[in-house]
Amino acid sequence: MPFVPRFTDGRAFPQPLGKIVCVGRNYAEHARELGNPVPRQPLLFIKPATSAVSLEAPVAAPFRRGDVHFETELALLVGEALTDADAAEAERAIVGIGLALDLTLRDVQARLKEQGQPWEMAKGFDGACPLSAFLPLDEAPDWSALSFTLAVNGEERQHGHGADMLFSVPELVAEMSRHFTLAPGDVVLTGTPAGVGELPRGAELRLALSGGLRITTRVID
Ligand code: ZN
Repeated sequence: MPFVPRFTDGRAFPQPLGKIVCVGRNYAEHARELGNPVPRQPLLFIKPATSAVSLEAPVAAPFRRGDVHFETELALLVGEALTDADAAEAERAIVGIGLALDLTLRDVQARLKEQGQPWEMAKGFDGACPLSAFLPLDEAPDWSALSFTLAVNGEERQHGHGADMLFSVPELVAEMSRHFTLAPGDVVLTGTPAGVGELPRGAELRLALSGGLRITTRVID
């Protein structure tokens, strides 16, 4: 069944999710924690629509395939088609903000990186993108003032601030639209702050986004 993005007021987006466009290394500290250089151009990749699942439901992780890491990210819902957009057009097309987990099979990714191969097997598997409902936006928020957190079993592990992004939300979405047309119903993930780690089996996850979004969920096999 296709995944349909939802708003926090219960409305469904009129179209199913098409694709999830993501950025690697959009926070300097996270690039450093994985031993990667800080990029001059965003490193982009795509998770397929089949990787999207609800974050409110228990999060099923494919532990049989290796270490599964959590990456907590600000997610954007795209409401209008964008091709070669500038930052102002990109900003106007964002109709909702939420949270996502960019689940990553870290051992698999390390092997693929070593061999110079693409990352899809590590980041595009079914269920690799648990997504929250989206807070509807009437106008663009102050992106640099946004913040979000993840607590694992009651302990805060990640704390992201919009102000720490290497590429701001409008710049990032504009750059993505120069490589891939963004269509209504597409979702953008904006990169993870430092603190990524292994997802423990059975853990309780609590996520919060400034603006009032709070989610409690659980990890299952
Ligand atoms: Zn990520």
